[in-house]
Amino acid sequence: MLILNRSTLLSGLLLAFLVSITAACVQFQNPKKKTAINSITNQPMNPYYSNTDTTKLFVLDEEWKRVLPQTMYEVSRLGQTERPFTGKYWDSDEKGTYYCAPCGNLLFRSTGKFASSCGWPSFFEQAGDSSVRYKKDHSYNMERIEVICGRCNGHLGHLFDDGPAPSHKRFCMNSVVLDFVPDKSPITK
Ligand code: FE
Repeated sequence: MLILNRSTLLSGLLLAFLVSITAACVQFQNPKKKTAINSITNQPMNPYYSNTDTTKLFVLDEEWKRVLPQTMYEVSRLGQTERPFTGKYWDSDEKGTYYCAPCGNLLFRSTGKFASSCGWPSFFEQAGDSSVRYKKDHSYNMERIEVICGRCNGHLGHLFDDGPAPSHKRFCMNSVVLDFVPDKSPITK
């Protein structure tokens, strides 16, 4: 019993020491210094999400099914499409940045978004060269170009040639696979 009490006492002292050191470090931090942030969204169940890691992901489908919300999984991994005029961003003109919701990859800036009135968030240009990739899509007896995430290969939507000048492109996306961070956010990169 005595040994246990001593052990408990030592553990308590060690804990108090660590707490005091941590508090001191926090006090001496420059409050104006920006801290690198890996993830802008709260996705504790998704270990693959990162806004800074651009390494391509090769994750098994059953793993995606485990870590993603059901509707996000159905669009991203099964290629389903959300109903028009129902998504979160189809009529939003707020300034900010759009990331891939399943993996955190940078996809679009609001400066590349336009009001297409089609019922889905639409962009005329991608944010970076590695933001998205393309695949031929012959489903539903149509010839379309599928847009997939450049990092996780997840389905995002389709690309059409009826967008505004100068690109004349329309990236027709699903809101449920987009993460939006407004410019005013203190954690915007
Ligand atoms: Fe992705």
